[in-house]
Amino acid sequence: MRIQGKIREDTIFGDELIVTQTEKNIRCVCLECHYIYDPLKGDPKKGIPPGTAWQDVPDTWHCPECKILKAKKGVFKPLDE
Ligand SMILES: [Zn+2]
Repeated sequence: MRIQGKIREDTIFGDELIVTQTEKNIRCVCLECHYIYDPLKGDPKKGIPPGTAWQDVPDTWHCPECKILKAKKGVFKPLDE
C-alpha cells in the first residue's frame, strides 16, 4: 500500500510540472503591430530577462515596436500553438 501511494504522488507532481512549464512559455502577440513577446527571449533592453513569463512582465512594460502599454486591455493576445 505504501509503495502504491508513493507512485501516485510522483505522477501528480509530474503533471503539475508540465502545466507550469507550458504556461511559462506562452508567447503573446501585440495586435497593434504584430510584435511577438517570446518568454524565452524576454526583452533585455527593457530590463526583462530571458525566461520571464508573460504574466510576470510588469504592467509598465510597453511594446518595443508601437510603444503601447502592456496594461492596456485587449491589445496583447496569447498565441495558441
Ligand atoms: Zn506593438
